[in-house]
Amino acid sequence: MEKQKSGKKRTRLVILRSSVLLVLGLWMLSGQAQEFGRQALDTLSGGAADDGSWNLILVNAENPVPEGFTVELEDIGGGQRVDARIAEALEDMLQAARSEGLDPVVCSSYRTQDYQAGLYERKIGQYMEKGYGRTAAAAAAARWVAPPGTSEHQLGLAVDIVSSSFQVLDSRQEKTAEQQWLMEHCWEYGFILRYPSDKSDITGIAYEPWHYRYVGKQAAREIAEQGVCLEEYLGKA
Ligand SMILES: [Zn+2]
Repeated sequence: MEKQKSGKKRTRLVILRSSVLLVLGLWMLSGQAQEFGRQALDTLSGGAADDGSWNLILVNAENPVPEGFTVELEDIGGGQRVDARIAEALEDMLQAARSEGLDPVVCSSYRTQDYQAGLYERKIGQYMEKGYGRTAAAAAAARWVAPPGTSEHQLGLAVDIVSSSFQVLDSRQEKTAEQQWLMEHCWEYGFILRYPSDKSDITGIAYEPWHYRYVGKQAAREIAEQGVCLEEYLGKA
């Protein structure tokens, strides 16, 4: 009698345990299925869904700043302004770098159409001084300075950040401790290094180890994980 009872108890325990495992298993499966479904959708749409989110707007030579584009700007000091919606994330990133003993400096941020036009003309002038014709100079300049209307600086979502100890915009910038830190951690704050060295063919812009673009935390993490550039991520490469 006593034996039977404990036998019954054991059976009940086994059933209970199996039920728990079954429920747990189903729960995990449904979670995985959701994740799988989401990934499949992403793949079908060629990367992330470009749902028109303000933080995922693509601006490059083929995709100019939308007609009538406006943005609410926030002053971040040093004469720099960015889209008010990214000011806090940017400040958090800069503060985190500073807490590591680094000294990053934002040297360029929001630009108006006129300002971008001036930068582009100046670059063309530099090439013409080297003997380039106007057309060739304009093409060469576009590798370094986006023609007006095609710079994401005009969105207020991009910043150029340099080391206070090396405020030069060339490839040596990547060797500074500030860039090393930013390249490793920027995604945690929703930023990406927009023009990586191995993506120039796609972005149309030469390697810029100082130009960071806000895309939001989820996109930044996925872009970092996948090792893609924004064009690839949005399926518009
Ligand atoms: Zn830039």
